[in-house]
Amino acid sequence: MTLRSQSNAEAIFKKRDADKASFVWKHPACKKTPLRVIISGGGPVGLLLANQLKELFGLNVSVAVFEGRWKQAGGEIVWKSEEDGNKRRSQVITLQSRPLAMLPPALKEALLPEGGYSEVWPHGKDSPFEYGRPWNIRIVDIEDRLLEYAKKQGVQLIPEWFNPGKTDLINCDILAICEGRRSQTLHHFKNEFGEADVSPYSLQGVQVEDKILGLKVKTTLKCPETVLFSIIQNRFLLNTNDNGYGYLNMRLSPEESEEFQHTTTLRATRLWPRILDGLKLFGIDENDLLAISCFSISMDHRSRFSTILHWAPSDHPTYGFLLGDTANAIHFWPGRGLNQGILSAMSLALCLKERWKIGKSLREADFSKHEGIMHMLQHRHKSRAWYAMAHRNGGNVQPISNSIAMGLKKKDIKRAELLDALLERSTQMLSRLKGRLPELPSPETIKKRLELLSDETLHVLVLSKAWDTQWSGGPEVDLAIFYPNHK
Ligand SMILES: Cc1cc2nc3c(=O)[nH]c(=O)nc-3n(C[C@H](O)[C@H](O)[C@H](O)COP(=O)(O)OP(=O)(O)OC[C@H]3O[C@@H](n4cnc5c(N)ncnc54)[C@H](O)[C@@H]3O)c2cc1C
Repeated sequence: MTLRSQSNAEAIFKKRDADKASFVWKHPACKKTPLRVIISGGGPVGLLLANQLKELFGLNVSVAVFEGRWKQAGGEIVWKSEEDGNKRRSQVITLQSRPLAMLPPALKEALLPEGGYSEVWPHGKDSPFEYGRPWNIRIVDIEDRLLEYAKKQGVQLIPEWFNPGKTDLINCDILAICEGRRSQTLHHFKNEFGEADVSPYSLQGVQVEDKILGLKVKTTLKCPETVLFSIIQNRFLLNTNDNGYGYLNMRLSPEESEEFQHTTTLRATRLWPRILDGLKLFGIDENDLLAISCFSISMDHRSRFSTILHWAPSDHPTYGFLLGDTANAIHFWPGRGLNQGILSAMSLALCLKERWKIGKSLREADFSKHEGIMHMLQHRHKSRAWYAMAHRNGGNVQPISNSIAMGLKKKDIKRAELLDALLERSTQMLSRLKGRLPELPSPETIKKRLELLSDETLHVLVLSKAWDTQWSGGPEVDLAIFYPNHK
């Protein structure tokens, strides 16, 4: 992850300060009781942490959440609208069932009300049969539901950008930084947390970065087809929910990403027919392409996720924690970013519940278990995501975007061989999905769909390879092992 420059960060804080009132705790009390937690960032991870802390500690905790995308309206905290400059995120997120099984039941029900999610992806190690299939939910719905729950729980909601330089941390036991992947507060505390290391996710000394087109689409495709066509290649990924809206993600070659950045008329570019082929693969009509955005994703490695931020008064330091995307921004192709974020928040909440005692100072050692779990999450999720970013051909590792570039360049393509290769791949995937998903598409349906595509696209799909499920599979981080009483 590339952080903005320090001066840029300060400029942003200055701008945000202009309309910022100073923060005071709603419940004045001495520092020792109750536990005082500031959460910067009211995205899914920050809100989940706030709600879980209230569930676990009740009146023993004061929780204040800062979020710059909120505003006060009619005596209530609400999300800023598009007119206020806030575009709500509508991407569909897949949540695994096992991590959520450890949430307090009322909170889980608020997050996943009857009819408030879709089931698209199959059972797996993190969504075993006893807990159910993974759940697809729009991020905007996750945030709305968690915010409403936080209001009922008495969480102090502050509609402002958090500024560590302006907020007095002396009266705060815990600062949980949940600001997403470009956190200014982490930048402010970079000496305390240390710089991230990009080398584990670099090749030939260059950090691997994927450029992705996010194509907002409407689709009637059945879920098992969505899964099958997504996992037989690494160029396109569709994630939708039952209302038929979702995002078709398209991984670009380096040249395509340059072309996209410099064009004003996308329909006139070489990219456009390739986008249309992506729509055809998933049976989506061109008229149902609603919007296009472009974003980049890279990864880095962090050496620590918790630290002391403030020593005075010395018997009650302020501890800082990186959670969610601020801690571990993961490539979304294998779809686990928020899952690890939820686990990171649950781990901190459960660790605090286990170690905190009224009137007693917390020591760094109290957080060893949480710090260890954060490293496990980083290892498990980033190693899986790395298989969705780079191909291994023997000892030679190269970005998948380079394989796509090769697919676009090569001209001596035999269409029949490409179709055969993709059909054989599909048959293998179908046999792996059997019993894990209902109503799998027939080989005839798959063949018909593939025949709609150009030679060039077929070649790209072949070279982009199927999802690497063998090397990226294996045991998942299971919090229940560390907190068996919260199963
Ligand atoms: C296309 C795409 C698809 C994805 N699909 C999946 C998936 O299928 N499964 C999955 O698990 N994950 C998925 N993810 C990842 C998932 O969206 C993220 O992991 C998740 O949003 C992280 O939540 P967060 O709360 O840590 O950060 P964010 O969602 O980024 O929220 C951070 C919040 O902090 C606020 N903030 C920032 N700075 C400040 C400040 N100084 N003061 C106050 N507020 C601040 C921001 O306004 C924001 O509301 C996907 C991501 C993308 C881009």
